[in-house]
Amino acid sequence: MLEQKVALVTGAGRGIGRSIALRLAAENMFVVVNYFGSASRAEETVKEIERTGGSAKAMRCDVSDFAACGEMIQEIVKEFGRLDVLVNNAGITKDGLLMKMSEEDFDKVLDTNLKGAFHCIRHSARQMLKQKKGRIVNISSVSGVMGNAGQANYSASKAGLIGLTKSAARELASRKITVNAVAPGFIDTEMTEVLSDAVKAAAASQIPFGEFGKPEDVAEAVAFLASEQAKYITGQVICVDGGMAM
Ligand code: NDP
Repeated sequence: MLEQKVALVTGAGRGIGRSIALRLAAENMFVVVNYFGSASRAEETVKEIERTGGSAKAMRCDVSDFAACGEMIQEIVKEFGRLDVLVNNAGITKDGLLMKMSEEDFDKVLDTNLKGAFHCIRHSARQMLKQKKGRIVNISSVSGVMGNAGQANYSASKAGLIGLTKSAARELASRKITVNAVAPGFIDTEMTEVLSDAVKAAAASQIPFGEFGKPEDVAEAVAFLASEQAKYITGQVICVDGGMAM
């Protein structure tokens, strides 16, 4: 069994997930860098962690696939003997107005963002229950807290994650497993890069801080919730949003 704590971060090849992986590695955790489409970027994240003296491994898995998540987590437990931290970060958008949204676009977003987190929690919880300890952090969104026109599917998935967080927190509390959510506002990543300048300006005008956040801002909140210091915090939603959803 590894002496180091082991963390699994889904969708950690780029964006917020990558920052979270680097931040947890800086806490001396062994990080499993999950990816789906971008193998080379996941390998780059691993190399970056190794360059800074940490250790990590990339693992491919589509989080929307229940059985594949089970296999990935079984492999982690078999290889490292433990799983201490799970960060459900993988997420997608397929934006559009409700009246034009296809059933496929609704399902796809729910399958990745909400069911993906359920799949990973469902398979990780067994090991954490055995260890009588664990930290689960789900990356929600201010869209899930406030709603957002043009994101009915995404908002539903991110609000669903908050319900999932609170129910799992209640179920797992007796074994000292904490489950919390972090709800980022607008953060500078590839997900927001696609927005037009006009949409970005309109978004920034709704943020009391007047600007988008950085992936590192989200990673700091996740690192805290994953730490020993956060042992008495569970079922909470921390918004990292420059004051947007207060
Ligand atoms: P990016 O689009 O930059 O990255 C998304 C990540 O999710 C990629 O690493 C991608 O992996 C992974 N992913 C997508 N589908 C799957 C899948 N089926 N299985 C495994 N991994 C998958 O997004 P961000 O970094 O911006 O977002 C990260 C999280 O933060 C998401 O949950 C997002 O909803 C949330 N968030 C982001 C905000 C923002 O403003 N950026 C605001 C609020 C919340 P790969 O490339 O390998 O396919």
